[in-house]
Amino acid sequence: MGLFNDVIGHDRQKDLLLKAHRRRRLASSYLFSGEEGIGKKRFAIEFIKFLYCIDRGGDNGTDSCGLCRVCRNLQNLNHPDLLLIEPEGTISIEKVREAQDFLKMRPLEAPLKTLVVDDAETMTLQAANAFLKTLEEPPPHSLIILISSRPFMLPSTVRSRCLNISFQLLSQEQTEEVLKRVFPELTESERISLSRLVMGRPGLAMKMKPHLEVTEGLLKGDGISSGRLNREEISEMIEILRTILRDLLVYRCTGEERLLLNLNNKRLVRRGSNTITTTDIIDVYNNLSFIKENLHYNPNTALVQNVIEVEIRRLLK
Ligand SMILES: [Zn+2]
Repeated sequence: MGLFNDVIGHDRQKDLLLKAHRRRRLASSYLFSGEEGIGKKRFAIEFIKFLYCIDRGGDNGTDSCGLCRVCRNLQNLNHPDLLLIEPEGTISIEKVREAQDFLKMRPLEAPLKTLVVDDAETMTLQAANAFLKTLEEPPPHSLIILISSRPFMLPSTVRSRCLNISFQLLSQEQTEEVLKRVFPELTESERISLSRLVMGRPGLAMKMKPHLEVTEGLLKGDGISSGRLNREEISEMIEILRTILRDLLVYRCTGEERLLLNLNNKRLVRRGSNTITTTDIIDVYNNLSFIKENLHYNPNTALVQNVIEVEIRRLLK
């Protein structure tokens, strides 16, 4: 089956949507849920390409051409029948109203008007309540795709009005394949190292790569040298630190280097696993996880950076 040839993995989800489309049984609202960085938004855009492509080979065609004007416009997220909403901190009621006005209009050239809401769980309660009306009575010729890596934060009333399609982590091989496309300049060993680090979430590699150096400096005891980080940068850094803590624990228990994810920090892990106690590793891991989970409450990032530095010093003592 060739639907969305450009998307690596997620075959079950492709199959499900293709079958629904063939039977003319697409739902009016979907929720694409699953961990951050596994390609949910990319998948949504490729699906819309498939629906809108003018050179697909009719209803039996199984893939968009990728070349026609429509495919190219969608690739650039520039199509009059597509609206993508992304949070600016949160998704406000004004954004939702804009989306509602967009969906009410007839499609200009595509068979449907499609609204994609990324990080849908960041809708304010007021926005979610307003949006509920659209989900209950979707305008004809409209398709709504909500995307969320934390679907449990969406009001259940919103969740229950969408057909949920859950996405899983990619395999190590699939992750490497994605990284090969995105970072053709990486050597094979760098690619393997990075793909181990992101554990099936290639989207994180794109965000993490710039922070690897900062994290390594932090682990050498230099503190966070690159100045004030924003919430997203802190989140990426915690993600890298957690994989290192995981490595410390694994190496302490097994002594096997081949099980490590973080190939750049082998020496640190070898040394650390002799001096750091298991309790300390687990404590720091839990504390960093707590910080990451609460970043969306918009804490003072300078303070958060200090707390992270204190936590890491516990490991370096
Ligand atoms: Zn096309």
